[in-house]
Amino acid sequence: MLKRYSITFWATVFVSVVCLSLVVIDVWRSVNARSGQLQEMERLGANVARAMAQQADDTIKAADTSLADIVERIETEGQGDKALARVQRQMAAQVANLPQLVGLFVYDERGRWLVNSRGVTSQAYNNADREYFIFHRTHEERGPHVGDPVISRSTGKWIMPVSRRLNKADGSFGGVVLATLDIDYFRRFYQSFDVGARGAVALVSNTGVLMLRQPFDSDRVGGSMRDSELYRYYAQQSGAGRIGSHVFHSSHDGELRLNSFRPLEHYPLFVTAALSREEMLERWRRDTFTRSIGVVVLAALIGFFGKRLVSQIKLRELAEAELRKARDALESANRTLERQAMQDGLTGLANRRQLDVTMGNEFSRATRHGSTLAFIMIDVDYFKQYNDVYGHSAGDEVLRAVSKLIKALTPKRPGDLSARYGGEEIGILLPSTDLQGAEAVAERIRRAVENLQMAHSGSSFGHVTLSAGVATITPKRGVHLAHMLVEAADKALYVAKSEGRNRVCLAQAQAEV
Ligand code: GH3
Ligand code: MG
Ligand code: MG
Repeated sequence: MLKRYSITFWATVFVSVVCLSLVVIDVWRSVNARSGQLQEMERLGANVARAMAQQADDTIKAADTSLADIVERIETEGQGDKALARVQRQMAAQVANLPQLVGLFVYDERGRWLVNSRGVTSQAYNNADREYFIFHRTHEERGPHVGDPVISRSTGKWIMPVSRRLNKADGSFGGVVLATLDIDYFRRFYQSFDVGARGAVALVSNTGVLMLRQPFDSDRVGGSMRDSELYRYYAQQSGAGRIGSHVFHSSHDGELRLNSFRPLEHYPLFVTAALSREEMLERWRRDTFTRSIGVVVLAALIGFFGKRLVSQIKLRELAEAELRKARDALESANRTLERQAMQDGLTGLANRRQLDVTMGNEFSRATRHGSTLAFIMIDVDYFKQYNDVYGHSAGDEVLRAVSKLIKALTPKRPGDLSARYGGEEIGILLPSTDLQGAEAVAERIRRAVENLQMAHSGSSFGHVTLSAGVATITPKRGVHLAHMLVEAADKALYVAKSEGRNRVCLAQAQAEV
């Protein structure tokens, strides 16, 4: 199966597979690196969200603890001047102590300042219209209330109001205790997180009001996020589902961000850390780009040199094929030459040289095996006259015709050989053949030539005939030589000639010395 394809085919396949694997491995690595980068991004977002939620919880909790304290004192100690003065000192100390605290305020049931951390009791401000005031007046709960962010009427800064209801002794609404938290305090903390140039973090109330966003945008603080995809998604979650992440298109700038969100533990707020997917993938993209260029260059180099190698192999194969062809041509030329060297040109029979070689071999074999070798010597009758009458080339034709017959009638066992002995004499070597067998062959040939009835006016028979002498020998080492067999056959031929021609004569006895 493998051998059906050439080495160049396999070299091409190998180079292609190497190039392809390089590319596939790099693509695979890049895809892995990308998902790794995204996982890293998710972890980073979750960590930032956890830290933000913790900080917001702690920050609000500290202020709320003060509020609960003040509520308790006013409700137990009353609103007398002395009591209020003590509360005021406590409030001032708390504000000095907690950097996130801008101020602490106590309002009566009509929204007027009773006392505040600054000590100045001005009646210029009435906060009965504030959302937190209305909330506490209409709600009996005693827990903390985190209001929407507002710009402080006293300082002009963005603040987050955290408040508790004050009750009169009979349980009716007695006012509000308010702590204002500096939004900037959160912002400074949020600035310490690296969420990238296109990332953002935000603190949002559970009702969908944006408390703070970093990068800071004063137009959006206090605004509603209820229509944003992020808020809608978060609002649908409950319990553990509120700690998680999701990819959104920003409603603000359209940026695709991974938002990690997390609720505060004690207050109705949640935080979200949003990382820009594009930005997070940028480094990966740059990395992948440079690597890809490297891989493409490498693959191109391998491809280029591979192609050269393949064409070199091809050239070598071609050269080898040429060489093989040249060698085959040479071998066939050699075989022709060899054949020609062993063949007689006119008759196509073996020549004298081959007869000598074969004779030598068969003589040795017969000596070893103790077998009998027969030899027939054939000579065309009155051939000189034929040439004289019909011309030399007509004589050649006769020789060819006679040779063809001899070839056809000579047995074709290995070792049997008919050869042109010289002139118009043809010898036939028949190994492992006795006198009678050889005589039969000679007689068959003689009769066949006679039957050809080739006109020969110079012959007393009127047509071409031939005479043959047959001899055999069972050679013994050190006693017999190959030429003795030929000589014996020649003698028999002489007898045939002298007895009138057109006949086969046998040697008198086995050729002996
Ligand atoms: P005999 O019956 O006694 O054999 O008479 P002959 O004329 O055949 O005598 P011999 O065998 O001596 O003949 C030899 C002649 O054969 C000599 C030559 O003219 C002729 N001859 C030898 N070789 C060739 C050849 O290649 N072509 C042709 N055309 N003639 C040949
Ligand atoms: Mg002769
Ligand atoms: Mg003759």
